[in-house]
Parts: sequence; structure tokens; C-alpha cells
Amino acid sequence: MHEIPVMSCEACGKEMTIARSVRLRSNPEPEFEQIVDRFPDPNDMPDSRREELDRVYLQYLRNAEYRRAFICPACYRAIDTHVGAGIVVVEGAEKRFHISGDSRRDRAAVYDYDKWLRYQQREAAKLGIDLSR
Ligand SMILES: [Zn+2]
Repeated sequence: MHEIPVMSCEACGKEMTIARSVRLRSNPEPEFEQIVDRFPDPNDMPDSRREELDRVYLQYLRNAEYRRAFICPACYRAIDTHVGAGIVVVEGAEKRFHISGDSRRDRAAVYDYDKWLRYQQREAAKLGIDLSR
């Protein structure tokens, strides 16, 4: 048996007793700017670097997608604005997060620890099934 899992906010990282279930993504723009800085001209690039660009760009696209996440009520209040985006301070740095339309206007489901744990166990069971194939 593993140690007891801790329910921590996927935005600010702090431990929480109540979670809101949202579809979340971080702000993808800074990452895109980094890509543009690293690969200024994709049309004038050796093939060896092109593979690297493809890899980095795919990762950027993945990060730009909304994914299921559990965040604390304070972060949810900060992000659940009329544009579905807000700033959370993570380890002293301001980080911008977005939530999808169906997560906005206080509609995100509320999870307590037991409900969250059951969700995690279901997800782990799904991984177990995948691994046994
Ligand atoms: Zn938080």
C-alpha cells in the first residue's frame, strides 16, 4: 500500500480540504514566445533542428489544451472571472491560468477528500487496465 495521497491544488500547489473540478490550462503564450525565440526562422533550418522544433511544438500544443484538474477554492475564485482567466501566485511568481467555459460561473463541481480519493482510485484502476493489455 502506498502512502496516503494528499489533495493539493494543481494551480498554486497548496494542500486543500475542498477542491473544485475544472478543465484547466496554463497560459500558453510565454511558451510560444520561447519557441519563437529558439527557432526564429523555421524555413531556414537544418533537418536536425526541425525534429527538435516538431517535438517542442507538439508539447506546446498539449500544454495549450484544457485538461481535468482540481484546484483550491481560492484559486478558483481568482480564475473564475468573466473571461475565464486569472492570476495565481505560485512560489512568488504570478502565473496565469485559464478554465474552459463549462467550468466558469461557479459551475465547477465541488470535491471533498473522499470524493477526490474515489476519483483518483478510479483513474488508477483505468491505468491498471491499460497496463495489463
Ligand atoms: Zn490553489
